[in-house]
Amino acid sequence: MITQQELTDNIARVREQIASAAKKAGRNPDEITLVAVSKTVPVEQIIEAYKLGIKNFGENYLQEALPKISSFSKQDVSWHMIGHLQSNKVNKVVPNFQYIHTVDSVDLAQKLDLHAKKIGKVIKILLQVNITGEKNKSGMTQGETINAAEEIIKLTFVSAVGLMTIPQFSGNPEDARPVFRSLRLLRDRLKNELPESRWEHLSMGMSNDFTIAIEEGATIIRVGQAIFGARIKNTIDKSR
Ligand SMILES: *Cc1c(COP(=O)(O)O)cnc(C)c1O
Repeated sequence: MITQQELTDNIARVREQIASAAKKAGRNPDEITLVAVSKTVPVEQIIEAYKLGIKNFGENYLQEALPKISSFSKQDVSWHMIGHLQSNKVNKVVPNFQYIHTVDSVDLAQKLDLHAKKIGKVIKILLQVNITGEKNKSGMTQGETINAAEEIIKLTFVSAVGLMTIPQFSGNPEDARPVFRSLRLLRDRLKNELPESRWEHLSMGMSNDFTIAIEEGATIIRVGQAIFGARIKNTIDKSR
């Protein structure tokens, strides 16, 4: 675990980078939500980040997230599910998270809708897109996303607020730029063709490439290691 001073410095640095990337792109930095990805991070450190003004946290694994969420009593916090979600877990996810970034099928959206209806909640979802269509990646292809979106906008208790993508890992963050740009174009197309939903969000950009994502229109960036320090590579970190 990093020290409180390191955490303070990291958050200040990330905020500066957000501001300068937004400025470069002629955007208002207030349009960009910083989601601090807190997988493997103990709840004590999450609370420190909260005290430094972070109000959005991202978690990948339900098992790990639930005890953290329940021990975190603050009301003005949003939890974002950013890991792959199995449909048998929806009953646990819906009451505990405000955003689900990883909706990759109509079936999953329908199950979320059913459960949200049961507990009288509208849950915000993003559709996960596999822009380049690599076989081993989760997410829908662009064509699948459009077809799924047409069905998902009919649901009442899920609100499709945008799209999310995770580019193929590369040592050069510039490699992600065309992927981010494609996600924006797909979002713009959905905005035009399916205005029943707002499609306001583009969840893209991680520690190594969030400034590029901001230049390409990201409204939500998911930043872990640049805030909380390097994660030890272990089985819990299968994101890449
Ligand atoms: C782990 C993870 C992140 C954060 O990655 P960092 O490199 O720590 O910034 C963002 N998005 C997803 C989907 C992740 O799994």
